[in-house]
Amino acid sequence: MDPELGGFISKSDMNSQHAHCNLCKKDIRGSIYNVKRHVKSTFHKQNVQAMKRTVPVDHFVQKPEVQKEQLFDDSVKDAELRLTGLVAKEDISIRKTDSLLQVLKSCFPNDAVCQALASSRTKTTGIIKNVPATEEKVQLAN
Ligand SMILES: [Zn+2]
Repeated sequence: MDPELGGFISKSDMNSQHAHCNLCKKDIRGSIYNVKRHVKSTFHKQNVQAMKRTVPVDHFVQKPEVQKEQLFDDSVKDAELRLTGLVAKEDISIRKTDSLLQVLKSCFPNDAVCQALASSRTKTTGIIKNVPATEEKVQLAN
């Protein structure tokens, strides 16, 4: 493939007398001279510029693995908030949250969200102090 042609030219479905510009969706009749003339044409150059300005659709759409990670992170945060809400609501000693977490992790060894919970004492205290509406959120969620 001639680099001068920009990788847009291929065989035409019409016949062997034509080439096809995949960018312009146009069949070009004749010799390589006509193909090179097409590549240098304003029409083709405008299409090249338009293509360069076009933002790929996947720029706007989150990739499935990113969505999965986000859902997982959201599930972990939700579980930590629920646990913290329980600790606050039932007036459970914050010192006991680590033990509670260890029991939960041993009860659900195959649950990735449970295993990812990291609500240590410091974190629980931080959530209780900095997220005053935790209990209301838990109640709304239930
Ligand atoms: Zn073209």
